[in-house]
Amino acid sequence: MTLYGGIEAGGTKFVCGVGTGPGDLATTQFPTTSPEETTRAAIDFFRQTAGGKLAAVGIASFGPVDLHPESPTYGCITSTPKLGWQNFDLAGTVARALEVPVGFDTDVNGAALGETRWGAAQGLSDSVYLTVGTGIGGGAIVHRQVLHGMLHPEMGHIRIPHDLVKDPYAGCCPFHGDCLEGLASGPAIEQRWGKPARELGPDHEAWVLEARYLALALNSWVCSLSPKRFVLGGGVMNQLHLFPMIRRELAGILNGYIRTGEIINGLNDYVVPPKLGGHAGVLGSLVLADLALASKSGK
Ligand code: ADP
Ligand code: ZN
Repeated sequence: MTLYGGIEAGGTKFVCGVGTGPGDLATTQFPTTSPEETTRAAIDFFRQTAGGKLAAVGIASFGPVDLHPESPTYGCITSTPKLGWQNFDLAGTVARALEVPVGFDTDVNGAALGETRWGAAQGLSDSVYLTVGTGIGGGAIVHRQVLHGMLHPEMGHIRIPHDLVKDPYAGCCPFHGDCLEGLASGPAIEQRWGKPARELGPDHEAWVLEARYLALALNSWVCSLSPKRFVLGGGVMNQLHLFPMIRRELAGILNGYIRTGEIINGLNDYVVPPKLGGHAGVLGSLVLADLALASKSGK
């Protein structure tokens, strides 16, 4: 069995794991402080837990990150406002300390890979993983590969119709105001209604608006990426009553135009919660480790 290390590098915490998959994953977590202190803690965990037995390490990181292997700043976190982390060479620091291949990608791309290998999108060639939390971000699997492109998708920042009469809230994205993240992230819900999202009852009108916004966004990806399933995670999606509401809204927006089995059967298997729960990111980082090892050995 090939033993991998994985890091889900978040803006508030790092989750590190050692294992081969969900069955034997051993994890630890610690707060994200300075880059030096935080990566040191991750490296120490891998040394203590696995000794020299790790075949590769994967890192699923907050971003934006540089994912182009030929770039001089590959493996770095780029333009984050997080103090000290801008231009920090996260992948290089870990690779130099542990002397193993290191796979590096965004946190949501990691989660998309984890859910595809072991979770709610298992076996599907094309899917989208979306997190709706402090921010909104998405990762797409297209033809069994994680979609990168010029940078990496920034799905949270797409524009959706915003009816200022029905919803006068201006949005909280510091770059765009009322992009998807500005209108539908956890902080947007809290600012609009004056209460944290988790304290709003299931009948609150907040959820009607939330389901509408998320369905408008999903419609864009149905029509552009044509995924076979959406996996929706993140803190806000703990409100499970949102799932049937989003399915209904999405069916209404598509309005009978796309008539695949997934869509005409009520979308119950089309818009689903994650199966790996809080471990999607760290398990995804094990997949990144596996991919890094495979590419190193030319498989
Ligand atoms: P992060 O995005 O920071 O990694 P989360 O995915 O947990 O972390 O998202 C945090 C956001 O989700 C916060 O804005 C919080 O208000 C919201 N949230 C967390 N739990 C719930 C819940 N049970 N119901 C609704 N919103 C929640
Ligand atoms: Zn934005």
